[in-house]
Amino acid sequence: MGRVALVTGGTRGIGGAISRGLKAAGHTVAATYHGNDEAAEAFRKETGIAVFKWDVGDFDACQAGLEKVAAELGPVEVLVNNAGITKDGMLHKMAADQWNAVIQTNLTSAFNMCRAAIAGMRESGFGRIVNIASVNGQKGQMGQTNYAAAKAGLIGFSKSLALETAAKGITVNVVAPGYTETDMVAAVPQNVLDKIVAQIPVGRLGQADEIAHSVCFLASKEAGFITGATISINGGQYMA
Ligand code: NDP
Repeated sequence: MGRVALVTGGTRGIGGAISRGLKAAGHTVAATYHGNDEAAEAFRKETGIAVFKWDVGDFDACQAGLEKVAAELGPVEVLVNNAGITKDGMLHKMAADQWNAVIQTNLTSAFNMCRAAIAGMRESGFGRIVNIASVNGQKGQMGQTNYAAAKAGLIGFSKSLALETAAKGITVNVVAPGYTETDMVAAVPQNVLDKIVAQIPVGRLGQADEIAHSVCFLASKEAGFITGATISINGGQYMA
């Protein structure tokens, strides 16, 4: 059965693949983004998926955005918190802004979006929330105390919310990708990337579609007995 699904950061990279996958599964999809109007417009034209622009780190903007999506497409029953950024640096050189921006966009965003969507899901007795973490939140990564803290935080957040909502027909799960070929990874210098790929047992980067398939499954009615889980999709780099 098709539902209204909202994917934050759903116009590019992993989020773009998730938006397409959910549409192919029969859902009506809203894809959000923050600054890249050109990519969002190209995505909208190509896929026919509705796009919406707001900052997921802004509590009020998330409330207003959710209401706008609900007014245009219907109440949101599938929420994928995918938007994320990196601002890497060793802790001894990290500015407070670098820390705050990553926590705000990658972790506080999940609170903002879930807080906006949860009442509607509780009312309808159905909900699917999937939070996109990272292998680096599971194993740690040099230069990413901010990012790893946010991504590990998503796992505890999801387990707690899963407990709060299980009896209401709402599941909350995490997908933790390993290194996946997107713009985010394109920013990593090639010599660093070569070293990373050497640590991935399957011997290559992941593809966005390979992440999206699991998200679409977790969003389905059939996945109703899976909640509080973390699915690691990382080519064997870290087995958790
Ligand atoms: P991209 O950089 O390719 O895309 C990020 C998306 O998030 C864009 O749509 C961007 O919008 C949106 N976004 C960023 N900041 C905000 C904000 N403040 N408000 C709303 N939207 C925002 O990222 P990936 O596809 O690579 O990553 C997607 C998720 O997967 C992230 O959470 C990332 O941490 C995680 N991940 C990625 C891995 C990888 O190897 N690629 C590995 C593990 C986890 P806009 O287009 O406007 O900039």
